[in-house]
Amino acid sequence: MATVASLMERHNGKCFWCEQQCIMYPGANNRPNAATRDHLFPQTDPRRQIPTQFSQVLSCRKCNNERGALSFEDYAAIKWRCISVQIVDQFDFSAFTGRAA
Ligand SMILES: [Zn+2]
Repeated sequence: MATVASLMERHNGKCFWCEQQCIMYPGANNRPNAATRDHLFPQTDPRRQIPTQFSQVLSCRKCNNERGALSFEDYAAIKWRCISVQIVDQFDFSAFTGRAA
């Protein structure tokens, strides 16, 4: 499992969803820009089988709360507007993991 600290490092401290700079220190966990770990895919999604170091991303508290139980595609459509399910299905994970998926 990826730690929040390792996700902070991988994403340069920026939320995967909104690119806001996240913070991580004791007592800051409930702030909107607090660093959290977000599973890209729900338990039932076959893509959940992707190793967690690739399927978990850094998310600010605000985006994580806002997403709730929405699927990756549904929240991406809301958050990024222009993205389509077809594009998401071809998503290149190496783009944000820094490694080949
Ligand atoms: Zn965010």
